[in-house]
Amino acid sequence: MNGKPVSDIRDISPEELKSFLLASNEKSFRGNQVSEWLWKKQCASFDEMTDIPKTIRELLKINFTLHRAVLAGTQESRDGTVKVGFSLYDGSAVEGVLIPSGGRYTACISSQAGCPLGCLFCATGKQGFKRNLSSAEIFDQAAYLNTMALERTKNKAGLSNIVYMGMGEPLLNYENVKRSVEMITSADGMGMSPQRITISSLGIPKIIRLLADDGLKCHFALSIHSAINEKRSKLAPFNIRHPLEELKEALKYYYSKTKRRFTIEYILFRDVNDSLADAGELAAFCKNFPVKVNLLEYNEVRGTGLFRTSSEKLLAFAGFLEKKNMVVNIRKSRGKDIDAACGQLAGKINSEIVKC
Ligand code: SF4
Repeated sequence: MNGKPVSDIRDISPEELKSFLLASNEKSFRGNQVSEWLWKKQCASFDEMTDIPKTIRELLKINFTLHRAVLAGTQESRDGTVKVGFSLYDGSAVEGVLIPSGGRYTACISSQAGCPLGCLFCATGKQGFKRNLSSAEIFDQAAYLNTMALERTKNKAGLSNIVYMGMGEPLLNYENVKRSVEMITSADGMGMSPQRITISSLGIPKIIRLLADDGLKCHFALSIHSAINEKRSKLAPFNIRHPLEELKEALKYYYSKTKRRFTIEYILFRDVNDSLADAGELAAFCKNFPVKVNLLEYNEVRGTGLFRTSSEKLLAFAGFLEKKNMVVNIRKSRGKDIDAACGQLAGKINSEIVKC
């Protein structure tokens, strides 16, 4: 590492850490011990590594930093959903959400501080973009929410699922997201099955192909919100540069490589994308690959000019797709009284709630 700027120790892999220690004339088992402190025991400083000789701790301090995401506060919804604010070493604020359902807990985690894509309906998009999160900062959210779930589940089962659906577009921070998945699923990290992890994206065609090539075993969800270019481009301006035709080809490639069904997420906005004609376009788009469709209630964000559709229209939309033999779920909004629902995370928690 000599001559290189000091990097966060969790930005290198356990193997790279071992090589570093060997090159510094230390025994390789020290690498395992240090990794255990970093990922399993989740220490916040090198000095906490009490079974590591002081000389090695000093060596690590000279060569690396150790920045852990710090809990900034929590806010609990009437429905049991908990929004958790984290502050990062540079003052950035991100949020994760713990969502209870039938005795199980799902964690929704963030991949970026802010988001550069500026979707019309989204509170995060309104904030602008600050930076990508490191893989360790993403991992920290999952690990912290898992600890909360362990405390709340009777059988200490911890999280049942993790969704990358918080602040930011995961595929724009692909390498760090991939590495965080690797650590969450690794025996050195949380040891969770990749089958219980979903990466949800607006759909970056080039990276969808990469995701397929890399063979990441987690699930993929596409936030489509309209299968009509003109409408989708208004809701998500990113679509202007990468229209649905390009997205469709990338998704076909994804399916041909992985043979895995993916999820289509569709938020219904009143009088914007909630007609049966819209449902028809969605059905036509989805003919190209096996999918499951999640229809989502919109959690209104002030100033967007967008509103939630009626229950009648939501049911009619779902019924139309079901008649086409499509698998459809209606997803009720969770945590909306604390702005923890999908599209509502805005990094406000640090200033809004009682500090822990
Ligand atoms: Fe970014 Fe997702 Fe919000 Fe769009 S919906 S602005 S991609 S966080």
